[in-house]
Amino acid sequence: MANPAGLPFDNSYIKLPERFYARLAPTPVAAPRLVKLNRALAFQLGLDPEVLASPEGVEMLAGNLVAPGSEPIALAYAGHQFGNFVPQLGDGRAILLGEVIDRGGQRRDIQLKGSGRTPFSRGGDGRAAVGPVLREYIVSEAMAALNIPTTRSLAAVTTGEPIWRDGELPGAVLTRVASSHIRVGTFQFFAARGDSEALRLLADHVIARHYPEARDSDQPYRVLFERVIARQASLVAKWLLVGFIHGVMNTDNCSIAGETIDYGPCAFMDAYNPETVFSSIDQQGRYAYAHQPSIAHWNLARFGETLLPLLAEDSDAALAIANEVLPSFRGHYVEALIGGLRAKLGLTTEQEEDAELAQAFLNALTDGQADFTLAFRRLGDAAVDPAADATVRSLFESKPEAFDAWAVRWRQRLEAEPMDGAARKAAMDAVNPVYIPRNHRVEAALTAAAEREDYAPFEELLTVLAKPYEARPEFAAYEEPPPPDQRVYRTFCGT
Ligand code: AMP
Ligand code: MG
Repeated sequence: MANPAGLPFDNSYIKLPERFYARLAPTPVAAPRLVKLNRALAFQLGLDPEVLASPEGVEMLAGNLVAPGSEPIALAYAGHQFGNFVPQLGDGRAILLGEVIDRGGQRRDIQLKGSGRTPFSRGGDGRAAVGPVLREYIVSEAMAALNIPTTRSLAAVTTGEPIWRDGELPGAVLTRVASSHIRVGTFQFFAARGDSEALRLLADHVIARHYPEARDSDQPYRVLFERVIARQASLVAKWLLVGFIHGVMNTDNCSIAGETIDYGPCAFMDAYNPETVFSSIDQQGRYAYAHQPSIAHWNLARFGETLLPLLAEDSDAALAIANEVLPSFRGHYVEALIGGLRAKLGLTTEQEEDAELAQAFLNALTDGQADFTLAFRRLGDAAVDPAADATVRSLFESKPEAFDAWAVRWRQRLEAEPMDGAARKAAMDAVNPVYIPRNHRVEAALTAAAEREDYAPFEELLTVLAKPYEARPEFAAYEEPPPPDQRVYRTFCGT
């Protein structure tokens, strides 16, 4: 029989032992309707968008039809949630349909999220509401366009079934694509059970799939730890450089492949303040913007603990290795952050005092309650023409003079590396986005879709965010921070 959804599945995770997952099909829904298909991503994956958009394709994206070659499973994992260990979480509302090899030769997971209950659902209904599904779609695709490693969104389907949260909401299913869905929490699941055999199988699977360079080392698990640390350090630096706040950096939401995963109450900052927290469930501010590097480090320490039985036979020796490797996080992180800040400030050479110059700018942003994204973007204009200083200055609403003193230092520093102004601006514009998924825009798009079935604002927002570095006059309004009455102070998981 021909594969109706045209998906050339090539599944590897299912070859791991049965205790790694539960086999089950998604739960069918009443009336699936495709509300968004990511045709460009479908193409990258080697899939035919027309087939995915066909009635059979939509049935598959809704979980009503299991395509040939798909071997649906819910993955087992554990995790620290807000610091507390939960020995069993797992895919409570997600099902991995299978894996495909994309046009670049990379293995990618294709997963449905919101596809019904699984043995890991605990008290949950296994479903997702259309708002959070579209939020994940928008923000994950925006992250990809910002060149930040992330899971992707292939499709969104509404189910025609209501779900119950604080009230009745339209249900939806997201098709998520990831390099893999293996998390720190996956390792923790087996470590908590003292299952060293499973740990070794999992680590070998991860090495083969994500870190093949580790295989040639005489200490492959040490190299694995080093590489995961390096990718997470680079990832979190990239988040900070665009003002992104993940919101739920639990170890079960920390990808071993180093991708941003699980978009819940995530948000981008408007006015810069390092203590910013949006998530309604993060009452202690554990996952505040500026805490993200130290939380990533903490999560990686938990990962290192799970690797101990693999690092050396002797437990003291294993601990010594883990303790030797873990501190490398800081070096990778600082290098990625400072390198990124230099580029954002238009610097092409390295000087000792650059970190201090960058920090002084951030401090001025805080004092001035300036918009993070616009301040960096407009600085590019000031690099060509000092007359544009006035525009940058005006962003520092509560303390414009904080910018003046800093601008003098910045110009002195620029003199140390002569460069054509237009070229410098072009380099800055390539790293300082003009469009980010501002919360008020995201909220407006979700409300229109969920309450009025009006997908036009969602579509337009996606169009804007697909080219975040390219200013387009017709979308000038999307550059703007929210007016006071549209500011979003709290975001919700919607789970
Ligand atoms: P999250 O906060 O989305 O990362 O989810 C944490 C855990 O709760 C994971 O094990 C999820 O699978 C599970 N979960 C979240 N929402 C639901 C739901 N509606 N039904 C069942 N399980 C869920
Ligand atoms: Mg999660």
